[in-house]
Amino acid sequence: MHAEYSGPLAAAELAKIKRELDAWKKLAYEHKKTIKKQNKVIEELKQQDNTSRQKLKESESQLSKLQSKTKKSDEAITTIESNSQCQICMELLYRPYALSPCGHILCVTCLQEWFRKAPAVDDEMYDDSDPDYLLRRRKTCPCCRTNVRHRPIPVFMIKAIVAGIAKVKGSQNGALLGRDPASNDSDPWEGLFPDDDEEIDDFGATDEEDEDDEDDIDEEDEEDSSWYDEVFSYGTGSEDETYRGAYAYPQWEPPGVVIDEDDYLFDQLDESDLNCLRRGATLAMIHEYDVEYKHNEGLIARDEAYNRIYLGWNIRLSADDENGELYMQYIADDMIARAERWSIIEDDDGGFEAHLLVPEDGVLEYQDTDSDNYMEVDDLD
Ligand SMILES: [Zn+2]
Ligand SMILES: [Zn+2]
Repeated sequence: MHAEYSGPLAAAELAKIKRELDAWKKLAYEHKKTIKKQNKVIEELKQQDNTSRQKLKESESQLSKLQSKTKKSDEAITTIESNSQCQICMELLYRPYALSPCGHILCVTCLQEWFRKAPAVDDEMYDDSDPDYLLRRRKTCPCCRTNVRHRPIPVFMIKAIVAGIAKVKGSQNGALLGRDPASNDSDPWEGLFPDDDEEIDDFGATDEEDEDDEDDIDEEDEEDSSWYDEVFSYGTGSEDETYRGAYAYPQWEPPGVVIDEDDYLFDQLDESDLNCLRRGATLAMIHEYDVEYKHNEGLIARDEAYNRIYLGWNIRLSADDENGELYMQYIADDMIARAERWSIIEDDDGGFEAHLLVPEDGVLEYQDTDSDNYMEVDDLD
């Protein structure tokens, strides 16, 4: 049996302890609250962390996508670069020139040196004390040994591509350094090839030197170059300007251009296309203006609004007018400037067809209009 602890003193003690206990409870409660708050903060931080991680992941994947794209373009540039190399100096082509007829392209400086110093071909008999020795000597392509028959021509597109590559690769690229850009204006083939592009025959001599050695290849070439060299002035010539007479519808006339169908084997041309080519249109123009040829109507082009424009039986584009744009612009202007030589027939829905007329006394009547000579039977109807 233990003694009972009682009395007023004990009661006061108990009350004090209770108070203290309450205070502790309160404190514990406060702590709990704080912990809860902190947990919440931690939770938030975790979430933020997750979001950041996810963002990081996304950025990483974007970065790798970009890297693979960059790799692809680097590969493309490398491919172009390796194909833009000169086979003599193995650098990027410097002022690229193409050889005819083989088509190989090399630096102008490398070619000059090659033509001067290339070892003599077996059957070469020229005397190198002859001042014209370099002009006369037989020249071959350093890549394929084909005889070079014409003076090499500059290839501006390749030049532009090479300049682009050099820029991408940084200016430290050696190809464009250490060579003389000042010689740009002078004739790079002086003393190596004859002045005007005379045909050089297989023995290295020019036409001039042995004219009796004529063959039909020469004639064909002559015809070709006169065609390309001629810059057609679209009737701005003086005789045309002064014409005051009447105009008439043009009539069938024979084709103006000789076309070798074999040159277009892979272009999938139909007979109308071929006839358009024979009458002075280019492939690009045929596509651009949907040009067609009809035996009884001649060349018909379409403008942007698909109005039909009858151009007669032969047209001539200037040499730099690859897709006929200049010609068609001239035609559009001419309809307004010289309305008297146009017959324009409007139709009900706002469109028109336009016929280019010719001076009345210039219309030639051909007895035989069958000499399209490549015509298909259904072209005759
Ligand atoms: Zn070179
Ligand atoms: Zn070649």
